[in-house]
Amino acid sequence: MRILIAEDNPQLGEGLAVGLRQSGFAVDWVRDGQSADLALQTEAFDLLVLDLGLPQLSGMEVLNRARSRGQTLSILVLTARDATGDKVAGLDAGADDYLVKPIDLDELSARIRALARRSVGRAAPLLVHGEFALDPAARRLTRCGAPVELSTREFSLLQLLLENSGRVLTRTELEQSLYGWGDEPGSNALDVHIHHLRRKLGSELIRTLRGVGFTIPK
Ligand code: CA
Repeated sequence: MRILIAEDNPQLGEGLAVGLRQSGFAVDWVRDGQSADLALQTEAFDLLVLDLGLPQLSGMEVLNRARSRGQTLSILVLTARDATGDKVAGLDAGADDYLVKPIDLDELSARIRALARRSVGRAAPLLVHGEFALDPAARRLTRCGAPVELSTREFSLLQLLLENSGRVLTRTELEQSLYGWGDEPGSNALDVHIHHLRRKLGSELIRTLRGVGFTIPK
């Protein structure tokens, strides 16, 4: 899952980026509204964490522009403690959720997972496929109830394939979701992760469609 953070406060932006990366998300961070607006038009993000008080272009303007372009990504706005009117204005303008500063990282991660579930139309927090059950919140995978150890990237890759089970995900789609800017994967990084997943989970689960991408059949 790829997240764009738009936050001009360096400490908060850095803290959010580091914290969300540790939670297994691919994160990009911009510090002003203009850059956020541009990034949204050039890259595919699943979710935007948007400070409303941004320089150059306000967060509200970024939000309005994204929605008027028809972009449906989840948007979570960050508002100042004393700006109560902002919450309502943000939600009315098409934000999916809001958090009031100071931000608690655990709460932010939980809200992001909830938005991710909602965006794929799934109410249950567990992704179950045959013998496998993946818990995105606990970042835990079990097979017939027994835990399976995965690296952060392997886990994110498997989650993405399970969320889209029945659909073929292209190499580009997978790489865009797994990696942020300045975090360029080596040309065969994806194949290495797939190889490791097959070694741990069996060769049948993930299918390769040569020249197209990968899928987990329903
Ligand atoms: Ca700000």
